[in-house]
Amino acid sequence: MGAVSIRSVRKSYGALTAIENLSLEIEDGEFLVLVGPSGCGKSTLLRMIAGLEDISDGEIRIADRVVNEVAPKERDIAMVFQSYALYPHMSVEENMGFSLRLKGVDKQERARRVRAAAEILGLEPLLERLPRQLSGGQRQRVAMGRAIVRNPAVYLFDEPLSNLDAKLRVQMRSEIKLNHARLGTTTVYVTHDQIEAMTMADRIVVMSAGDIEQIGTPLQLYDSPANRFVAGFIGSPAMNFLPCRVQNGKLRTAEGTVLPVDIPANTDEGRAIVIGIRPEHFVITDADDPSAIPTDVLTVEPTGVETHLVTRMAGEEVLASFRDRLDVAAGTRIGLRPILDRVHAFDETTGARLGLD
Ligand code: ADP
Repeated sequence: MGAVSIRSVRKSYGALTAIENLSLEIEDGEFLVLVGPSGCGKSTLLRMIAGLEDISDGEIRIADRVVNEVAPKERDIAMVFQSYALYPHMSVEENMGFSLRLKGVDKQERARRVRAAAEILGLEPLLERLPRQLSGGQRQRVAMGRAIVRNPAVYLFDEPLSNLDAKLRVQMRSEIKLNHARLGTTTVYVTHDQIEAMTMADRIVVMSAGDIEQIGTPLQLYDSPANRFVAGFIGSPAMNFLPCRVQNGKLRTAEGTVLPVDIPANTDEGRAIVIGIRPEHFVITDADDPSAIPTDVLTVEPTGVETHLVTRMAGEEVLASFRDRLDVAAGTRIGLRPILDRVHAFDETTGARLGLD
């Protein structure tokens, strides 16, 4: 059983507190992704689970055993790094079997486990090669193979795909997910890439400044972000934000546009609110449609799959995306009607999500 329990953990580097007081329960067999901008503390948290960093306070349990004082190699974890960290003078087979050799596993059993992992990862034809004779993706696979042969209670991944080109990243993403489905081992995966988080995770933990902003399934975070930070971080292209105030029972932007959306419940006159609308939640219509927001098209970006309109709406730059090929030219004025039940609202000061009537 590979549940991981993090209880009131703090981590300081001298005067700097990287993590203040963090608690998190990771279920046995779960694929949990820690995501957030650079410096938010996700690697620190992963390294504390691995035992590569001491914790300043609190408790970490792996498979119900307190591991605060347990050395990394005794924690029943296997870590895969961005840098792969393969031994350059050892073949793929030797690299994959090395940890088993250290543990004193006999040669036959080592070969059996290495071959089983190689089969999962499609590495069988490459077992005799040295790391320098491999592509980046193949090296990454060997690094994973080395983790798989150990059959640990928990896999820890630290930005494992960052060194790969975009196409290979997409391929490796689904390989890692497929392996998780096959092996069912608890996995904690760190990335700064929200697409990686969305596509791979059972649950995502969004972090900023050493704290957890929200925990949820990918679509929970997407559909109901708890605050403006999560709303802006999850989703690509990113959510658009329109600052406004409640005036005479309407939501009005600073430059005077009345937004045709519902007002959050229990909001007083004058309250500063930020309306959030994802690019895909607009319907294109005429500039004089009263249910739409008048919008100037600045540029039209065809991606093939979608058409992106970069626009100016109510004084803000707003991106709208459509599945169709649009007959719209830069410089024209259109109306964009928000899909009302997909509109988000946040308190301008606290950033907290507000319920819409
Ligand atoms: P992330 O992985 O989200 O990019 P990190 O966990 O690496 O963030 O870092 C969190 C914070 O802790 C940052 O402010 C970083 O500068 C600081 N930090 C990380 N490692 C050390 C260290 N060894 N010494 C001092 N500060 C560190």
